[in-house]
Amino acid sequence: MSTIADNLSALANRIESAARAAGREPASVQLLAVSKTKPASAIREIHAAGVRDVGENYLQEALAKQDELRDLPLIWHFIGPIQSNKTKAIAEHFDWVHSVDRLKIAQRLSEQRPAGLAPLNICLQVNVSGEDSKSGCAPADLPALAKAVAALPNLRLRGLMAIPEPTEDRAAQEAAFASLRRLQEGLDLDCDTLSMGMSHDLEAAIAQGATWVRIGTALFGARNYGPA
Ligand SMILES: *Cc1c(COP(=O)(O)O)cnc(C)c1O
Repeated sequence: MSTIADNLSALANRIESAARAAGREPASVQLLAVSKTKPASAIREIHAAGVRDVGENYLQEALAKQDELRDLPLIWHFIGPIQSNKTKAIAEHFDWVHSVDRLKIAQRLSEQRPAGLAPLNICLQVNVSGEDSKSGCAPADLPALAKAVAALPNLRLRGLMAIPEPTEDRAAQEAAFASLRRLQEGLDLDCDTLSMGMSHDLEAAIAQGATWVRIGTALFGARNYGPA
């Protein structure tokens, strides 16, 4: 077996044990393969091993890979910070966006979603750790944002996403994920998605109700951000 296929089977075991430990069906947790910085060939490999959903953070990089992988029935998720001038291409080329954190971006995505396509699936990114990270709406602003986004015609609000401050402390990981879950429960909206958990904290996220785990390193190996 190749490394990626090995990694996938180890990861599937982690997801399954975490789900069972939480009294959940393993199938209620979906895997999003996060392929930023990795070549199209790595995505081809993970698809051959049975993965269908791919997450990318950078628009130009994602579009280049989509072009190379046209022949595969992949589902593309945008998970990175979004600038206004990128919304048109995102609305045209993705099935999901996990990182919407302000109304202006949601309005543009709705306006720019092509007529022939299904509504764009949206998760609102929330800053649950409260550290001054650049991304995510403040929990206090979430109810109004969610209500406004749910009313946009060409979007389908699916749920919430968070990237908590990294920590190895399991209790702290769970506390952050639990706060996202409670925020979602507090919204009076029909949401079915909690996008939370990465390579180092997926067990805690699954214990607190994650429906998507977004996994890069544990599937594709460490990323190299050095000069190309
Ligand atoms: C890179 C990234 C991931 C994957 O992180 P790993 O620790 O490599 O699993 C998940 N979500 C987002 C938003 C990311 O940017």
